[in-house]
Amino acid sequence: MTAGLAGYAVAVREEAARVREVVAGLHAELPRWGLVVWTAGNVSQRLTTADLFVIKPSGVTYDALSPEAMVVCDLDGNLVDGDGAPSSDTAAHAYVYRHMPHVGGVVHTHSTYATAWSARGEEIPCVLTMMADEFGGPVPVGPFALIGDDSIGRGIVETLRGSRSRAVLMQNHGPFTIGRDGTDAVKAAVMVEEVARTVHVARELGELIPIPQADVDSLYARYQHVYGQGDSAPVLVEEDQA
Ligand SMILES: [Zn+2]
Repeated sequence: MTAGLAGYAVAVREEAARVREVVAGLHAELPRWGLVVWTAGNVSQRLTTADLFVIKPSGVTYDALSPEAMVVCDLDGNLVDGDGAPSSDTAAHAYVYRHMPHVGGVVHTHSTYATAWSARGEEIPCVLTMMADEFGGPVPVGPFALIGDDSIGRGIVETLRGSRSRAVLMQNHGPFTIGRDGTDAVKAAVMVEEVARTVHVARELGELIPIPQADVDSLYARYQHVYGQGDSAPVLVEEDQA
């Protein structure tokens, strides 16, 4: 039992209600794009009016994910409002929000092809212009980490700090993606699965052709800035606070 949001300002309570709707809707996107089975996977979004985020509760199937079912947590991952335990990946989401102030959304799935690259501990090489556009280079691999402490969150943050990518393949586990908000992070989750699949198929039939770094750089800059894809702009200009 928690005190809920009663002690928070009206603006916070109103935003929490809006973000619950958004996050519930985004969870419906995960099965729609074929990224999850059963209760695996989760989406969260940070509030702008308080140091809180909304995430799915643990162990609830996708057809039962209403806005009311979503839970609100603080940036240490403690439940603030809602019924039921937060997702078992809440600590990882909270760690990312604490250490990457510009990140407004986090997504985790076990989508098949991206997770297959995770199982091999192999980064996805940047051999598609859409990878240069979306991720600015290869999609990196993060360390093997067990659930239960900060090690998953730390692995995500440390890996993404050294990369332009909004996706990290946690070794033997699967992809985590970040974005300006939940929608942006879901887009990255869809895109990382797409490129993981395409590059896998390409390699089965022949050798991959790398894209020269200068061209990767110009594709990335063009997509992020010239074409006004502001929703995909880099979110990694952050500082370590904790
Ligand atoms: Zn997982």
